Amino acid sequence: MRIILVGPPGAGKGTQAEKIVAKYNVAHISTGDILRANVKAGTELGKKAKSFMDAGALVPDDVIVGMMRGRLAEDDCKNGFILDGFPRTVPQAEALDSLLAEMGIKLDGVILLDVDDDTVVERLCGRRMCKKCGRIFHVSFKPSSKGDLCDECGGELYQRDDDKEEVIRQRLAVYHSQTAPLVDYYGKAGLLLRVPGAEAGDKVLGHIEAMLGSRA
Ligand code: ADP
Ligand code: ZN
Repeated sequence: MRIILVGPPGAGKGTQAEKIVAKYNVAHISTGDILRANVKAGTELGKKAKSFMDAGALVPDDVIVGMMRGRLAEDDCKNGFILDGFPRTVPQAEALDSLLAEMGIKLDGVILLDVDDDTVVERLCGRRMCKKCGRIFHVSFKPSSKGDLCDECGGELYQRDDDKEEVIRQRLAVYHSQTAPLVDYYGKAGLLLRVPGAEAGDKVLGHIEAMLGSRA
């Protein structure tokens, strides 16, 4: 199985990807995770990417495509993959098409997790993380019973820098201008499956299974 997850920040791409991976045993490739790991490790790639990421802007296409060319050639991709956060622009989608053609493989589908802007802002602005154990809370949807401290370990809860409203608005603007055109791109290719991202988590997996079944 080879699929792409597309959707605005906060649509739940990571959560859905983990469920799909648990079920189908394919590689989960998150460009955001790879980039954050490189920034943390201080690699050349991380140095190139950091300023763009901090500004809520996209890392240049050539950097991302070079990174993905290497990643898709790794062994764990043989059984299939789920791309989370890539492609994010039409030029990236075109580059992916040529990469897959070179490799002699095809995509099974592209899943759009459709969530409106107000929902994204509400979800991300209210998100809080535990400094100690990393557990995620939400001030309204999943509050800690201990207020500003973690239920689980008593650690202090904090808001991530890129979950501040201004940065979220910036990430959304980038999504609408640069990433949303992919909906048309993959729609024309007959690959798009639109799923309301606000639906309870397990329904999304059901939609994906139905799509894969109908193509089998
Ligand atoms: P989110 O989807 O919540 O905005 P990600 O973790 O997917 O966050 O990405 C974080 C940042 O990494 C992005 O804001 C962007 O700077 C960079 N990034 C991730 N994937 C790509 C990509 N495919 N192309 C360009 N930049 C990317
Ligand atoms: Zn904790």
